[in-house]
Amino acid sequence: MHDWLIVGAGFAGSVLAERIARERDERVLLVDKRDHIGGNAYDGLNADGLMIHRYGPHIFHTNAKPVFDYLSDFTAWRPYEHRVLAEVDGQRVPIPINLDTINTLYGLDLNSETLKAWFAARAEPVAEIKTAEDVVVSAVGRELYEKFFQGYTRKQWGRDPSQLDKSVTARVPTRTDRDDRYFTDTYQAMPKHGYTSMFSAMLDHPNITLALGTDYRSLGRAARDCRTIFTGPIDTYFDTCYGALPYRSLRFEHVTRDVAWHQPVGVVNYPQTEAYTRVTEYKHLTGQVHPRTALTYEYPAADGDPYYPIPCPEHQALFKRYERRALNERQVWFVGRLATYRYYNMDQIVGQALATFRRIEAQVPRRDGRVRAAAADMAATGAA
Ligand code: FAD
Ligand code: UDP
Repeated sequence: MHDWLIVGAGFAGSVLAERIARERDERVLLVDKRDHIGGNAYDGLNADGLMIHRYGPHIFHTNAKPVFDYLSDFTAWRPYEHRVLAEVDGQRVPIPINLDTINTLYGLDLNSETLKAWFAARAEPVAEIKTAEDVVVSAVGRELYEKFFQGYTRKQWGRDPSQLDKSVTARVPTRTDRDDRYFTDTYQAMPKHGYTSMFSAMLDHPNITLALGTDYRSLGRAARDCRTIFTGPIDTYFDTCYGALPYRSLRFEHVTRDVAWHQPVGVVNYPQTEAYTRVTEYKHLTGQVHPRTALTYEYPAADGDPYYPIPCPEHQALFKRYERRALNERQVWFVGRLATYRYYNMDQIVGQALATFRRIEAQVPRRDGRVRAAAADMAATGAA
């Protein structure tokens, strides 16, 4: 019999399974209703032998050395700096908006200093930056907001940026230099042999039993009656008793093209045209050498698998009701993007899972009855 039940074999569930199995020497039953490990980061070869990400492009980047070091125990890395072009007014220009974006789009010859003044002349002051619209309009003005952000965001989220929290568009900065990287984090790399291979190494431990294609609700009472880590949607854990928490979904169209290359960079965004938001060409990300090329088109959808929590005050209030209930659930820890209803990247989820492990270590006696002193100290000083 197992000591822990972990629901969900994505980053949150797999990191905790690995930590508990290896560090605490306790037995874990890890279940996922999908037929594979890795959650949304799952990747693998398609029928044409090309590496693709089943649930859309996953690019690893972080400033957190402990997170990078932890994952490095399970994978080697391929350095990769992500670049994205946006198709705007019939031209492909860098996004995040930078010096080259403006010079190309408007046929100008600005430098970083004159671009600052150019933005300042267009920016609309906003008393308090609250929404995803405010963030952009207050930095670069309404015209660029409409060209690059309004259409894309309406497509992606099914609502106007004015109805979304500022954190959504704040993910994409504005630059006055020529840096055309999507991220500026210290560590930017892809798992050398893919995410699934990294997850396999993480879960390769005799204390971990995997049950794929298994909804935890189908388990018998005995299997469920133990310490539990839940990484699925928090509202489903409580049978949506306060109403369904909204998540945004996507439909992925995966295609192979009979050409070596389709586009000059890993991702091209379509803020003004097309029903899809972006097109990914995986060979840029993976470095795979192949005569053909694999692409994914992302079509946003209201229904389907829950991929994105939708950040806005009303949904946060509903989440808080579930969170309050979750606090009363003894022996259950809620971790991950769906269970904590946070628009988190992979590295943030790994950080959250590692922090949860430290809390568990401080609170839950191991089988030998001892709480780990170091973890207890850490919790006492607030470091956990
Ligand atoms: P998940 O990966 O969703 O895992 C939860 C698991 O729980 C799922 O496998 C699910 O099947 C399982 N589950 C749910 N309910 C049950 C149940 N009742 N019984 C059994 N199992 C259940 N992050 C980045 O850092 N960089 C990127 O480039 C990036 N790109 C992304 C692109 C897309 C299109 C999406 C959707 C996300 C992207 N992310 C990216 C975010 C990243 O996917 C998440 O941060 C991370 O995968 C979350 O891990 P998780 O374990 O919390 O959740
Ligand atoms: N966004 C946009 N235009 C772009 C890129 C991003 O409007 O060309 C907005 C959009 O609302 C998007 C958000 O910024 O959902 C965050 O973008 P990111 O690329 O981080 O999205 P993710 O990779 O998480 O889907």
